[in-house]
Amino acid sequence: MQCDTEENRVLSIPLADGHLVEAVSYGSGSLCLSVQVGCAMGCPFCASGQKGLIRNLAAGELVQQLTAARAAGLSPARLTLSGIGEPLANPAVPQFLLDQQRRGLPVSLTSTGHPLARLAEFCRLPHNGLMLSLHAGRQPTRELLVPRAPQLAELHRVLTALWPTLSGNRRRKIGFNYLLLAGHNDSEEELAALRDFLGPFPEATLHLLELNPVAGSPFRSPQPERIAEIHRFFQQLGANVRRANRWRRLRRGGCGTLVVDSWQKSPTGGTE
Ligand code: SF4
Repeated sequence: MQCDTEENRVLSIPLADGHLVEAVSYGSGSLCLSVQVGCAMGCPFCASGQKGLIRNLAAGELVQQLTAARAAGLSPARLTLSGIGEPLANPAVPQFLLDQQRRGLPVSLTSTGHPLARLAEFCRLPHNGLMLSLHAGRQPTRELLVPRAPQLAELHRVLTALWPTLSGNRRRKIGFNYLLLAGHNDSEEELAALRDFLGPFPEATLHLLELNPVAGSPFRSPQPERIAEIHRFFQQLGANVRRANRWRRLRRGGCGTLVVDSWQKSPTGGTE
């Protein structure tokens, strides 16, 4: 296992079948775990999913990342399933959440909402935060930025039905992630649509994220002044809105930046 020397430590963890996954230890004490080798969701700004989905991680491989972090001298205070992959699509995740709750380690997760049929189940699991990645206020933008995720209207319909069934505490544990991408989802029209989407969910938190660019990516975050303006816009509406913390703004700390160059096994059984 290799570790970076930055404040955010990136751990590359070899799996028994030759694939690799990455986990990130944030300086804040959170350990971000991957849930799949690759990812099927196809977000074009994301280095992690560029090769598609290879497979789910097994329960033991989720635990393996935590064990590897401890072996590297880290003592995570909380976990977040926000690394590579879509947690709702991995059947091992619910039991992992239950096991870690029993051990007193809070776990949050980040999801595009796919598959939508599992969203209600996950909302009720003992998580410490379920962040739904929207990245768009309007459907054409959603299709561009999170192409294989549920449609916004469908996600909205399911959440609207679910909301009255959740306790206040559970509602406050739901958040919406919005990765700001200049020229793609930072227009007035897009943000007005986002405001309308959020309307029925006043207890939820809106997280305005910034891109950690990876080599060759055509995407970039808006200028700091524009990000501040967008933050103010939602504050003035009375929304619970937060900007990415400093750990998320460091290299390899942001959305979709985990990439393992050699995760794909070659036909001869080695790694490329
Ligand atoms: S941003 Fe997340 S959901 Fe999208 S491709 Fe990357 S790992 Fe998958």
